[in-house]
Amino acid sequence: MFFHSKELQYNARVSKPDPRFARLLLEQFGGGNGELKAAMQYFVQAFSCKNAYPDKYDLLMDIATEEFSHLEIVGATIQMLLSGVNGELKNAAESLEMMDPMEGKGAKENYIHQALYNSQFCVLTGGGPSVTDSNGTPWTGAYVNANGDLTVDLRSNIAAESRAKIVYEYLIKFTDDEYVKDTLRFLMTREITHFQQFEAALDTIQPNFPPGILQGDPRYSNLYFNMSPEESATGPWNQGCSSRLGEEWQNIDELKEYVEATNGLTDMEPTGTERTQDTVKNMDRELARARSKEVKSATPTENIQWSAYKDEEEKVEQEVPADCL
Ligand code: MN
Ligand code: MN
Repeated sequence: MFFHSKELQYNARVSKPDPRFARLLLEQFGGGNGELKAAMQYFVQAFSCKNAYPDKYDLLMDIATEEFSHLEIVGATIQMLLSGVNGELKNAAESLEMMDPMEGKGAKENYIHQALYNSQFCVLTGGGPSVTDSNGTPWTGAYVNANGDLTVDLRSNIAAESRAKIVYEYLIKFTDDEYVKDTLRFLMTREITHFQQFEAALDTIQPNFPPGILQGDPRYSNLYFNMSPEESATGPWNQGCSSRLGEEWQNIDELKEYVEATNGLTDMEPTGTERTQDTVKNMDRELARARSKEVKSATPTENIQWSAYKDEEEKVEQEVPADCL
């Protein structure tokens, strides 16, 4: 269950309203790399690992809850940046000054004009945040990556934190408001923190590469296909040993000829690796058995209950107020 604290996690402030930046900041409210996406992604991922990995369930729920707190900070900042819009709209009986071309370019007129950079602020949300990105595209659950396997999900999260971080970095360039910059720096920094927390959590699961269970086919795991007629650039991605499996890279320069000579890559033996079809098959079987047991042994199939509560005798007796008797 959730509690709501009336104070924000960070003391978000703005020097003065700025509807144009409010629109840009929507990117981190309802955008594809924003706080709602992060919160929902970790929240949804947590359910599937509750039984077998209760420590990671805790981590995911804690960070999800912090991301909701970030969403709150971003929403509050957008609202502060739009201060005045709603009040002006409530002045329903009067026409907006900005509509009168004879009124000149007063400060308020100019300000409301800026709010029109996002028409939704004016004619839909009435001067508050909307669950959209900065272009008004509605938030979607399709932003959420949750695949029921922590070696996959935690990597999705490391990628998500990287993207959230760079969007804050870009946003900082578009405001001169020192208060807003402070808030953005705080939010950006927390994504750096989360990156490391997810990476550390991934390290606690061994083996964690390749993602998932199956080890792949040793005939193909160390092939580098040069896909152009010219020579390919070289680097650790095609020279020496591969980073995780420690296999020697095999460069295939004449791909068409190679594919034809191997009957479409089917008549060939693994090279540059000690792994064979048999060792891989054994590892698949062992890891599948271990992981499946890990989850099954921790997952009841009858009388299923999510939470443990205090014992009956420990329960506090409810006092019924005398007036109600
Ligand atoms: Mn965040
Ligand atoms: Mn984060």
